[in-house]
Amino acid sequence: MYHPQGFLFTKKVQVMTKQDYSEQLRDKRWKLKRLDILRRDGFKCQICGYFGDRVNVHHLKYTGMAWDAPDNDLITLCRECHNKLHTDKWPVGKSLAELIALYYGEEIH
Ligand SMILES: [Zn+2]
Ligand SMILES: [Zn+2]
Repeated sequence: MYHPQGFLFTKKVQVMTKQDYSEQLRDKRWKLKRLDILRRDGFKCQICGYFGDRVNVHHLKYTGMAWDAPDNDLITLCRECHNKLHTDKWPVGKSLAELIALYYGEEIH
């Protein structure tokens, strides 16, 4: 019998749907991890410096479950910066330093 999913698993390719991911974000383990990161970053957007309640924790890289990500791969972002990342205005896979350079480049011009 042919199992397309089985094939993907043997190839160790991780398939993650949007739904899986939003379920992960509702998990208690993620909520605790998220709070750790917000505290570490002082509830401030790490790109533009916005401080307030409209901040999110963003994954610079996705490795396994949302809460398993190393702290270095997680950053606090305001809604505006976060949207820029997720609408591909800023390319995904950039380091925080590269994103800051992009942000300030954009502000100057
Ligand atoms: Zn920001
Ligand atoms: Zn994000």
